Amino acid sequence: MQYISTRDANRRVSASQAIVAGISPDGGLFLPEKIPQVTPEELSALCAADYPHRAANILARFLTDFTESELLSYAEKAYAREKFPPREVAPVVSIGDNGHVLELFHGPTSAFKDFALQMLPHLLTASLRKNGETRTVIILVATSGDTGKAALEGFADVPGTKICVFYPHGGTSSMQRLQMTTQRGENVMVSAVRGNFDDAQTGVKALFTDEAYLAELAARGYLLSSANSINWGRLAPQIAYYYSAYCDLAGAGKIRMGEKINVCVPTGNFGNILAAWYAKHSGLPIARLICASNRNNVLSDFLSTGVYDKNRAFHLTTSPSMDILVSSNLERLLSLTLEDEAQLKSLMAALKTEGRYEISAQARRKLQAEFACGWADDEAVAAEIAETLARDGYLPDTHTAVGLRVWREYRRRTGDETPTVLAATASPFKFCPAILGALGKPVPEGDFERLSALSRETGLPVPPRLAELQGLPERFAGVVDPRAMRGVVDAML
Ligand SMILES: *Cc1c(COP(=O)(O)O)cnc(C)c1O
Repeated sequence: MQYISTRDANRRVSASQAIVAGISPDGGLFLPEKIPQVTPEELSALCAADYPHRAANILARFLTDFTESELLSYAEKAYAREKFPPREVAPVVSIGDNGHVLELFHGPTSAFKDFALQMLPHLLTASLRKNGETRTVIILVATSGDTGKAALEGFADVPGTKICVFYPHGGTSSMQRLQMTTQRGENVMVSAVRGNFDDAQTGVKALFTDEAYLAELAARGYLLSSANSINWGRLAPQIAYYYSAYCDLAGAGKIRMGEKINVCVPTGNFGNILAAWYAKHSGLPIARLICASNRNNVLSDFLSTGVYDKNRAFHLTTSPSMDILVSSNLERLLSLTLEDEAQLKSLMAALKTEGRYEISAQARRKLQAEFACGWADDEAVAAEIAETLARDGYLPDTHTAVGLRVWREYRRRTGDETPTVLAATASPFKFCPAILGALGKPVPEGDFERLSALSRETGLPVPPRLAELQGLPERFAGVVDPRAMRGVVDAML
């Protein structure tokens, strides 16, 4: 099976080429030319398997220039038991009202991005080999928090790779900063950049598009690559956990095999919920996809009105990983919905020049047939955290609470009581001040005092990988101006 660009269906590449390239040279994103199908019998068989086998089975259908046994060997390393303590890799916890929380935060960095970024180094290094590439790959990342740490953790000490992460100075939570500056590994580099996330992102993009620099790197045996969520290699591994959740619910007798479920996802860049869309369209019995936004509600506005408009105030919220106004993966959904390349290109051009576009009423109705949406502000999120803990004995993080709030409102509004998988994207211990505040508790000064306070208040254990940061030396103290970012990369070579 081949992959095509959203902006040019005649540009066809293999899965491994799509993973190496990251983004298509025409500016489009790669997607599979057709969607593989999982039959009901195959779905039943999948349920007998453990997480790595489930993941390898689903991935093999999408990444057809890899064998299932290759993918299984990667999945067994990526999702090894010791990396996802203390329970299953992706456990499902039922909370009442037919809600089932899919916990995606038990990996090394306590956020769902581990599912993709533990797998991507294996996929990328194998893809390089499959295409005869022998240069060392340098992964460049600009991050506002979770992606940088997950990418560092995935690529640390992976042979044939180096990774360099830039984050905005003062622009992350202190726990997120500590997670990055204490990163182990011989091939890693982390630097703060004076400015905001956009400055860091612009600096990284400038390096990617500097032809002379790329040529110089090539001559020295290096190749630049990216680990952000426009890369198909990051999206594909996320499809598997929706299958896994379905299997667990069926296995526990909470749904009948074949019964339809809803899926609710707290959304930023539209990657995670698009993976759920691919699960649905490849055969997983899903009725509705519920897209939950925080106060940066550009997506829920788009799904309700058909108008995408990023010309609006940007809000810093208690769910920072969803503070985003341009959701890059939406281009894939539009391409799948419009089935008209020229129209897609003109929408993307309008987004670039005017920051706004509108789809036809017909296209909007098509999207609304599959997607419900809603949004929740910080106040509603705080109330949701306290209420869910009091009523269900379950403590969600701020991002997960956005999803829970929107799901409860959707149920009230529509009366739809379909069993629903609720994606839980981060551990509450990553966002202690907001969680303690929501519970009406005092917020202590230091990061580790906050971890202990939240553990004391809730009786939940601190994730070991967060607790152990306390003993680790901070290896990367550097802060640079955006124009000095190249020097940081060069110092690694
Ligand atoms: C990245 C992230 C999201 C948003 O996911 P998308 O795939 O970008 O929609 C939500 N919650 C957390 C905790 C995240 O790290």
